[in-house]
Amino acid sequence: MTRTKHQQQSRRRRSDSEAAIRPRGDNSQIEIASMEFARKVNRDAVLRLIRSMQPIARVDLARASGLQNSTVSSLVEQLLSEGWIREGEILRTARGRRPTQISLNDRLSMLVADVHPGRARFGVVDLNGQVLSCSEVAMPLDVEEGVQKLGLAMLQMRATYADRQFEGAGVCIPGRVDVERGRLMVAPNLRWRDFDIREALAKTLGMPVEMENDANACLLSELWFGHLDGVRNAVLLAISEGLGASLLAEGRLISGRNGMAGELGHVCIDPEGPLCNCGRRGCWEVFASSRAALHHYTQLTPEPNTPISYEALCRLASTGDDAAHEAICRQGTAIGSGLRMVTAALEPEVILFVGEIAYAWEIVAPIIERECRASMLAGQPPRIACAGDTNKAHILGAAAVVLQRHSGYFSSAGPSARKAELQRPA
Ligand SMILES: [Zn+2]
Repeated sequence: MTRTKHQQQSRRRRSDSEAAIRPRGDNSQIEIASMEFARKVNRDAVLRLIRSMQPIARVDLARASGLQNSTVSSLVEQLLSEGWIREGEILRTARGRRPTQISLNDRLSMLVADVHPGRARFGVVDLNGQVLSCSEVAMPLDVEEGVQKLGLAMLQMRATYADRQFEGAGVCIPGRVDVERGRLMVAPNLRWRDFDIREALAKTLGMPVEMENDANACLLSELWFGHLDGVRNAVLLAISEGLGASLLAEGRLISGRNGMAGELGHVCIDPEGPLCNCGRRGCWEVFASSRAALHHYTQLTPEPNTPISYEALCRLASTGDDAAHEAICRQGTAIGSGLRMVTAALEPEVILFVGEIAYAWEIVAPIIERECRASMLAGQPPRIACAGDTNKAHILGAAAVVLQRHSGYFSSAGPSARKAELQRPA
């Protein structure tokens, strides 16, 4: 009996530390970083369990997570002190025990913004992923002017939620962000000059601001609020005016040395192809983005037509316009054939799509699936799915960017966050 209990305890101990990286060689600083990483991963897991099972007692959390009671208690205390969760009603059970129920602190909110060329959407999202408010503002061409305008609009919205606590502001951007400097590293479709967006916005809002690439933000949102529980290898493709990608490998978001990992949209497919906004020719994005479909449509229609939106093109396709349908099919084929680099590099379980591509999903999904199957060298093709409403994905993504500041996923804060942890003195 004692032995069984001991075995159970030792199994639990192993499961508590299983997320820790086992470094080769003797390096106590790396050990500390690994233990901190394991704690963050466990903390995220507990937070996600509370979200999906709330209200829930500590003892049920321990059971559901497989962690030791003491680990769960310590993590719950941490989450309570940080304000992420709150203790609620005390339930009477048949045995007379009265475990305190824990829920997410739904008074905790985030100000969010989703920037596009020429416009930005902004809103308020609570910790449960409820979008409490959402609005849009036109963005001037000048980045400084645009950020000022967006900041003031967000501030005005915040004022209508005076009774709420705000954890911070999150911004998702169609480009790569240097999270340390708060600046854009590359954003070909925004055409913004170098400017410290984060500092300017934080000054206007009076709260910390986190910025992230839109694809990474959407993948974080799927991990926090969505349907990626238990998935350890996934790729998210954000397809609208451009094509961005986010990579989750073995449970961690891959950012690369400079936060540039996932720029698959600018991998050259055809050196003789059309010019891309990045300045090179024949990038995957030029064939697979919304702009590609709109370009095909212009070519396929004999009469010169007035420019239309991608959403309008999809409406035309669904109402029997052959040229619109063919334009979208060509885009779908280009997306599908490019997936070979995704499956060859990462062999994900799931490939998720977000962005304007959602409007064309019924047409493109079978084409993408067919092309993806054909591109597999061996093994099962990944599951292909559309991550729901395109606008909501970006707004929730911006909220997840704020949440990830405390998480084990690291996101593109990865290199600096890891460096800081590795250099922390023992
Ligand atoms: Zn390019």
